[in-house]
Amino acid sequence: MSAGAGLPAKSLAAVMHAYAQPLTVQEVPLPTELEPGAALVKINCTTLCGTDAHLWDGRLSGFLDVAMPMIHGHEMVGEVVAIHPFETRDAVGREIGVGDRIVWSEAVCGHCYACTVLGESVMCERRGMGFMQRADVSPYVIGGLSEYVYVAPGAQRLVVADEVADTWAAAAGCAVKTMLRGFRNGGGVPTGGTVVIQGAGPLGLFGTAYARAGGAGTVITVGGPEPRLEVARAWGADVTVSVDEIPDPDARIAEVLRLTNGLGADLVLDFAGAPSANREGVMMAARKGAYVIVGIAGPHADPLPMPAVMGKELRVCGSMNGDIGDLAASLEFLRRHRERFDWDLMFEPAVGLSGATDAIAAMAELTAIKPVIRPGLG
Ligand SMILES: [Zn+2]
Ligand SMILES: [Zn+2]
Repeated sequence: MSAGAGLPAKSLAAVMHAYAQPLTVQEVPLPTELEPGAALVKINCTTLCGTDAHLWDGRLSGFLDVAMPMIHGHEMVGEVVAIHPFETRDAVGREIGVGDRIVWSEAVCGHCYACTVLGESVMCERRGMGFMQRADVSPYVIGGLSEYVYVAPGAQRLVVADEVADTWAAAAGCAVKTMLRGFRNGGGVPTGGTVVIQGAGPLGLFGTAYARAGGAGTVITVGGPEPRLEVARAWGADVTVSVDEIPDPDARIAEVLRLTNGLGADLVLDFAGAPSANREGVMMAARKGAYVIVGIAGPHADPLPMPAVMGKELRVCGSMNGDIGDLAASLEFLRRHRERFDWDLMFEPAVGLSGATDAIAAMAELTAIKPVIRPGLG
């Protein structure tokens, strides 16, 4: 398909040119043609992820470097403007037409060792991460802080059910699917058992609801600040442990042991990504328990206390992002439990692209839980 078929030629986008500097709202080109398997989407909304903020403020520089100029945003939902006729179905076989609302995965190659032998596309060697896509090189616009986004071939797509709000669908694209995969890798919610959630950011809060809905006995959410812990309690945490009120990690470990009659938690998930979180999480886990590491602590994380891992026969595993199955399950989890949990508690009022810098800075400073950008607001 070419521009002659009516594709827009340009898109307004908020572009990152330097670490921790204001994003520039500017026009960027769009591909003049769709490749087979590609689509062009007009963005309804993009929600920001902690990783966007950490990549913007430079704290991951040297560990994860950004290809600039670059457009942030990997949690987004939009309406199809054009789709190449080579493949017009979504990942579960539904037909996608112009005007349909879709979400999509990072592009995966389908041919590498991870995609084929392992069958684990999250580890695809050619996975199309948005922060590695320069905004001045075709296809220009992969990130969601843009009016239009190019859905590359290999990005697996899903039509979104009407009951799922734009903001929820966008958040499914990273926060919810990453949380959900963490539970899957950890063996699922232990029915009637104790779950400790480390972190009260978006993953920790969605994880709190998931543990509650999944049949946990006691759910303990460790994090802060207080407004986030309020959401955690509304979404099913029996107890919250405030890192502001109890700043000493050893005191928090003692508190979790006290709350669990000295036993610890059957499942502990690190959704915090703080350098001290992993030692703390291992010490909070029960004998024969599981510990799942989801947060990115960067290169200076405290070492795991191996004697405790051995002595408790802990299962320790990592979990990275999510695949299209995790995304599909996330959409259904949000849809199915929309009456039980007020998902809208998560989201900040929507702003346009001109508000994106303040939104990403607020995310970095933890003053916003989940900023919402609607490019159509200008
Ligand atoms: Zn691959
Ligand atoms: Zn993310």
